[in-house]
Order: sequence, then C-alpha cells, then structure tokens
Amino acid sequence: MAVSTASTRPEDPTTRPARAPRRPRGEGQWALGHREPLNANERTKKDDDPLNVRARIENIYAHRGFAAIDPADLRGRFRWWGLYTQRKPGIDGGRTAVLEPHELEDEYFMLRVRIDGGQLSLAQLRTIADVSREFARDTADITDRQNVQFHWVRIEDVPEIWRRLESVGLQTTEACGDCPRIVLGSPVAGVAEAEVVDATPAIDEIVRRYVGSPEFSNLPRKFKTSISWLVDTPYEANDIAFLGVEHPEHGPGFDLWVGGGLSTNPMLAQRLGVWVPLAEVPDVWAGVVGIFRDYGYRRLRNRARLKFLVADWGLERFREVLEKEYLGRALLDGPAPELPGRPIDHLGVHRQRDGRCYVGAAPVVGRVSGGQLARLADVAQAHGSDRVRLTPYQKLLVLDVAPERTESLVGALREIGLEARPSAWRRGTMACTGIEYCKLAIVETKARGEELVTRLEQRLRDFDADISIHLNGCPNACARTQVADIGLKGQLVMGPDGRQVEGFQVHLGGGLGMAAGQTSGFGRKLRGLKTTAEDLPEYVERLARRYLAGRREGE
Ligand code: SF4
Repeated sequence: MAVSTASTRPEDPTTRPARAPRRPRGEGQWALGHREPLNANERTKKDDDPLNVRARIENIYAHRGFAAIDPADLRGRFRWWGLYTQRKPGIDGGRTAVLEPHELEDEYFMLRVRIDGGQLSLAQLRTIADVSREFARDTADITDRQNVQFHWVRIEDVPEIWRRLESVGLQTTEACGDCPRIVLGSPVAGVAEAEVVDATPAIDEIVRRYVGSPEFSNLPRKFKTSISWLVDTPYEANDIAFLGVEHPEHGPGFDLWVGGGLSTNPMLAQRLGVWVPLAEVPDVWAGVVGIFRDYGYRRLRNRARLKFLVADWGLERFREVLEKEYLGRALLDGPAPELPGRPIDHLGVHRQRDGRCYVGAAPVVGRVSGGQLARLADVAQAHGSDRVRLTPYQKLLVLDVAPERTESLVGALREIGLEARPSAWRRGTMACTGIEYCKLAIVETKARGEELVTRLEQRLRDFDADISIHLNGCPNACARTQVADIGLKGQLVMGPDGRQVEGFQVHLGGGLGMAAGQTSGFGRKLRGLKTTAEDLPEYVERLARRYLAGRREGE
C-alpha cells in the first residue's frame, strides 16, 4: 500500500517555493508579435483577405447559387462587400440564442450601400430606387449611419447590382466587416450657414485612399468614423470623430475624439486635445486606424473595439504613440468645441448660405421603399434640386430649393409620406432592423416603432418637447440605446401570464452633444425599468405625461 507523504497542514506561504510569474495572456496584438489567429474570425481574415471574396461572388457563387457558398465566405468575408444573410421568417426571438447560424439564416441577403457623408445625387437616388424595386422587393431602409439597406437580395443578382451602383459612383465596399465603415458627415456639409469648414474633401480623400485597400481590410473589429463641422452626427459614439473648432491662432480646423462605441460595454469618445487642419485629417485618421490595426485586441471579439485600447492606455499614451510611431511629428494642442445642447437634426425649412433653402423631412423610423425614393427624386427635381442627403437619425434632406418653392416642396413631400414638420414623436423615434431581418434580434422593432409613433401622435399630439426614443432589437445597440432620452433594448420579459414575451429594458435620460454645463452620457438602466412590447405605447405615454407634469419652467 502506498503511503501518502502529503501533509494535511496548510502550506506556509513564507516557505512555499516561488512560482514563475504568470505571463499575461496575450490580446493578439500584432505590434507585440502576436500574429497567429486566436479565434475563428481572425483565422478567416488571415486565410484570405476578405476583399478577395468579390471575385468568387462574381465568378462562382452568382452562377452556382446559394448552396455553393463556402461557409467561411458566407458568414465571414461577405460582410466586407456589405452582405449579410437575413433572418429566416417566422423564427421567434426566444430561439435566437439557441439556434445555429445556419438554422437562423435565409438564402436571401441584406445588402448595405455605403453613402459616405450621406450625399446623393438624384441619379444615384434613382439608381437605388431602381435596384430596390427590381432586386430587393421594394425595400430601402435608411439606417442611422447614413447608409441604405436592401433586403431580399439573391446572390445571383449581386454582380448586376454592383454594376448598376458603381455606374453612378456608389459602392458596397466595406459597408460591413472589420474595416473602415461608412464615414458619417454633416448632412448639410457645404451648404449650411453655420458651417465654417466643409469636411467633405477629407471624407472623399479617406474613401479614395483607404476604402477597399488591403492596408486596412483586416482590423480587429469594425471602425466607425464621423467628420463634421457641426454637431449633427452622433460623434461621441464613433471610434474616431473630428468636430469643427476655431483655434485662436491657427483658425478653423477639427477637434479629435477617439474611443467611442456603444453596443455592450458602451463608452463615449474622448477628446485627445489636439487641433487638426482639414488637409491633415486623412493622415491623422490613418494614424489612428494604424494604431487600431497594430495594437488593437484580437483575442476576444467583445474586447476588440478601439475603445478598450483607449481605456487601457489612457489618452496621454494614445497621443504619444500616434505622434511618435504613426505621424512622426507632434500635433498642436487645441481648444474644445462649443456644443449646442442637442444634436441638430435639420428637419423643416432652412436657409443655405447661398440664399437657397434645404428641407429636411422624416419618414417613420427610417422605413422607405424604392417606390417612395423614386417619387422623392421626381419631387426634388420638380423643385429645382439635384441632390439629397441622408442623416444619421434616419431622416433625409432635399437641398438647393428656391425660397419661394419650399412650401410647395413641403406639401409634395407630405404626399409621398415624408413629413417636414413632424410631431415630436416621429421626429425623435429611430429603430434598428430588428427581428424582421436581423439574425441577432430578439424583438420586432420597425413595426413597433411605427405603431408607437402613431399611437403617441393620437394621444399626445401637442407634446412640445424634443424627445428621442431609440428602439433596438437586442443588446447590440445599433440604434444607440444608451444615448436616447428613452432607450429601448430588446429582450424577453415576463408577460402578465408569467410567460416570456417580447419586451424592452428601458434606459432613461441619455444624450450626446451636450452644451457646457450639461454632460453627455448614458441613460440610467434600472432593474425594474422594463415593459412588454405590447404595453410600450402606454408605457411611453405615462413617462411623457409624468415629464410634462413635473418639468421646470423653460425645460
Ligand atoms: Fe440586429 Fe440587434 Fe443591431 Fe437591432 S440592435 S440591428 S437586432 S444586431
């Protein structure tokens, strides 16, 4: 019989032999020598540059059909060309987390068109409308990142859709994926009276140099950008943002913010404290993207956004690395920009600096059809305009209208379901894609949003305050749950009969772009703040009535 020699007494830590110090687990940062993929997504990107999948779509998949698509392309690389499979109809939100990806996905695609800065000519608008009607069952949602999203797209039609879009200067390149997504810009860039510098040349240069380039086609995660003189984009929710500011000695330029991102672990971008002239914006942008590519975390996807690196490094170190390793020069210190109190949405009739006007109008929760966009192009043309802009609040603008034609335009837009003088509810309500098409969704959002707006317009028609209501189908916060007055995060909640039903966790009091004396920040999320989807209109009505009863003078 073997005799145990092990003592039963607790080990004396002072006599315990010293263990070798534990090596910190690598985060997969390329700059620190970690080049071997640590997860399946990193493996897919390393095996083949996702941009290369376009050739396979054109030469193989479009001819052989959905069944021929390699799963690594289908669920990985397709995103670099704006393609996601959409959710199979009829699968309820309770099964989202338990089904395998192939069980959730349909043989149809969502195709996202990137519209950097939200700028469209009428020729481009008409092409989008034609593609929508011919290949996408008349769908053409305006997203909260100034994109247009088609649904019901067949792989067989994708090459022809690309040909049509590209013939008018549009593209779907890197509209999704771990790469530089659409660059948000002011919807009134180049025309607004209050704008000092039009940022469009910087946006165009970034797109020209870097979108579709292998230099940045393998980032740790998505990378979101906003470049605008005015506070009319949700700049603090982006990985990088340039916001207009006057330097007391050097004049107008841009204030640089880094490390924003919502989703889970939300963080707001922070000022780096530097002033960047317009001509240097593309280089500084590329420096920050370079840091993200090289130092960004690649081990866990839920820690891979730039915000985690910024939070760990701190702003001082981030600036030092940017200046020394990526730009080779020091940046100028800069002042903070003035913030307006709430982001500007540009709805209604406004004077341009050239004396003409622009008119901003609201669909409901960004839902428009191809047919509606075709009619919009006709209406805009009939009123002397050749350009339209999309906003990051799911709205649209018609530019360059003679002042005497604006009322006629407001009426014509109303006839096609676009309201230039919307109720507070229609104005402030946004919704993400939700369960209708999104494979990650737990609840319905678009139809619920439309129903919510209709009910509140009936019950609280004269509500006179600005209010933002953002409906999201899951915790991913594509419609920016945390920074709305009323943010709604889709989840299953307990229904009256004790069974789980679609509902929302409510976040209250969030906001962006706050003026001095106020703070941008996330809404409060309290455990008890939940509502079933069915009760949502009554819930929001109660909140609004309580607010009206309790608000202070001038609020
Ligand atoms: Fe889909 Fe969720 Fe994003 Fe909505 S928030 S579009 S449900 S991933």
